[in-house]
Amino acid sequence: MADRYLSFTATAPGRFLTARLGLPQPAALSRWTAERPSLDGRLLHLTAGGPSGLDLAPVLARTGLPTATEAAGTTTGSTGGSATGSTAGSTGPAAVVLDATGVRDVDALAEVHAALHPVVRSVAASGRVVVLGAPLDARDHHQAAVQQALEGFVRSLGKEIGRGRTVNLVRLTDASAAESTLRFLLSPRSAYVSGQVIGVAAEGPDGPVDWDLPLTGRTALVTGAARGIGEAVAETLARYGAHVVVLDVPQAAEDARRVAARLGGSALTLDITAADAGERIAAELPDGLDVLIHNAGITRDRRLVNMPAERWSSVLDVNLASVLRTTDALLAKGALRAGGRIVATASIAGLAGNAGQTNYGASKAGVAGLVRSLAPRALAEHGVTVNAVAPGFIETRMTAAVPLFIREAGRRMNSLAQGGLPVDVAETTAWLAHPASGAVNGQVVRVCGQSLLGA
Ligand code: NAD
Repeated sequence: MADRYLSFTATAPGRFLTARLGLPQPAALSRWTAERPSLDGRLLHLTAGGPSGLDLAPVLARTGLPTATEAAGTTTGSTGGSATGSTAGSTGPAAVVLDATGVRDVDALAEVHAALHPVVRSVAASGRVVVLGAPLDARDHHQAAVQQALEGFVRSLGKEIGRGRTVNLVRLTDASAAESTLRFLLSPRSAYVSGQVIGVAAEGPDGPVDWDLPLTGRTALVTGAARGIGEAVAETLARYGAHVVVLDVPQAAEDARRVAARLGGSALTLDITAADAGERIAAELPDGLDVLIHNAGITRDRRLVNMPAERWSSVLDVNLASVLRTTDALLAKGALRAGGRIVATASIAGLAGNAGQTNYGASKAGVAGLVRSLAPRALAEHGVTVNAVAPGFIETRMTAAVPLFIREAGRRMNSLAQGGLPVDVAETTAWLAHPASGAVNGQVVRVCGQSLLGA
């Protein structure tokens, strides 16, 4: 269902009227297209808290954005970059990366303010601010305090920056292990990801990567891929080179076949709640698979007082129990090849709670618990990472069925003042499924335009 308010505010009279009435002013987001695959402008690399020891410059240079590095009040072009101008240049940067990993006390935290205060206003529309932080040091409560302070800083800046710009925090210790994450956050692919804190380990099981077609030669299975978000995920993974298996229920077999044919993949008709679903997937893919996307999900909303047991159990079965069962079965059979990726679909309703969704909220919080617990073991025992995306309000058939006023509230109650598109969840999923994302494990990343619901 089209967002008419967004179309209206894109017109001059619409902008004028809504500004006069003090209503939300959503900016049209720049998303990835083949013609415009990267951000349009330069990247400004700043440091707070002294030199951090991260070898960031070569990684930033490989984003393809002309980079200017600012240190001690000067701005210079960096490796591979053709940057000109300074922070006070005529056109603002398309992206700012602030390396704050060296911030260890409150005085150094002032450098975060000093670095970003003069440049934030000039960041281009649909631009990116990425703050880099260090893991919290359990033996140094001053370092832990100010590194945690970065989260409140980033989330607050995300809420005030406007104009379709996003602000995220990455906790890392090694720049090259975080390359896929930085490329994602510094690209139009992350248009609807804001206010997130993403942890990246020092290393991951990554091999050589073709950045243009990273999933070439890999097989990806997407559950619930006949339509909606799952279809967009299948499409994006196929665009990245994967052979995609489109799984959906028998009632959606025709749509599943149509999607599979369009993507050069194959269709698998299966109700994921079947007790032997994992075994049947393994039998269908005797050579194994590389990417498993648990996307199938349903809602059966009612307040708890009115909810029959059947509504409870059907949601828990599709959204959580089947994810647990098929994951266990496929890992036990060794069906996921080393270097494999599992991405499950949670929801902000599971992180923040939602009236009328005790069943759905429980199931989606369960997905987050599954991811956090299984991730270290799946990596140690199978070389497989396990992460989740947690979509907010995404424009699909599921949300088109939501009553008008709740739908409008869902669309506007986030920092970007609009709903996301299935492709936003798909691009985030593809980043987590990327062969170079092995150091990203056990993360639950919200794709919600920084919804006001939950943290
Ligand atoms: P959708 O209803 O449009 O699509 C879901 C797909 O899953 C359908 O094709 C359906 O046939 C399939 N499916 C359902 N039960 C199945 C089963 N037992 N076995 C196999 N396939 C099954 O939903 P969507 O909006 O695209 O949502 C996709 C996922 O994203 C779901 O897990 C949903 O909970 C989650 N999510 C969506 C939103 C949103 O705003 N749309 C927000 C948060 C989370």
